Amino acid sequence: MRRLQERFRRFMNHPAPANSRYKPTGYEHAANCYTHAFLIVPAIVGSALLHRLSDDRWEKITAWMYGVGLCALFIVSTVFHIISWKKSHLRTMEHCFHMCDRMMIYVFIAASYAPWLNLRELGPLASHMRWFIWLMAAGGTVYVFLYHERYKIVELFFYLAMGFSPALVVTSMNDTDGLQEVAWGGLIYCVGVIFFKSDGVIPFAHAIWHLFVATAAAVHYYAIWKYLYRSPAEIIRHL
Ligand SMILES: [Zn+2]
Repeated sequence: MRRLQERFRRFMNHPAPANSRYKPTGYEHAANCYTHAFLIVPAIVGSALLHRLSDDRWEKITAWMYGVGLCALFIVSTVFHIISWKKSHLRTMEHCFHMCDRMMIYVFIAASYAPWLNLRELGPLASHMRWFIWLMAAGGTVYVFLYHERYKIVELFFYLAMGFSPALVVTSMNDTDGLQEVAWGGLIYCVGVIFFKSDGVIPFAHAIWHLFVATAAAVHYYAIWKYLYRSPAEIIRHL
């Protein structure tokens, strides 16, 4: 492993000391930008498609909630990585976008669950998760604002807690079609976290994390499109 790391050393820097940020190499900066930039257009097209497939107002609103979260994730991430690469001398601006990039993770988790929570029948207690997930996203946003980069392990715990807690409600649904895909997507995110935490240990670790995010988001999108939006009339037409 050591020898391999030395071979790839020009592609990555040494890991950051505790409580400071890793400095990516030029190669890594470029990979970080491109891996999310290429997904902006597919995210916009995909969101517009869900909006078109909506049968009623509630489905339309949900398509907006999910679509805005999906597009904003890739846009904010790309802008942050471009600034961090090309404009890192603009310290305040870079810091600000880094916070936005982290806040987007909380908002995106809420947005990814929104279609399942909004459009599926839920029990009286479970239905409270529809607003509670957004309260958690707001809490995460405030946490980033106050303690950004200070307690990284707490931050990671919050991401995982927020990612898992709505799953408890989702499994209590009567209609469980598509939940397997939701779980697969969640698993892909969890494996990706290994790379999220491997800057300076694995070359291009952050860009690999981006690819895991893209894959998991694609699996979740597919499930939302297939099980929540594709209308029966359309299925019959394709038979
Ligand atoms: Zn990133």
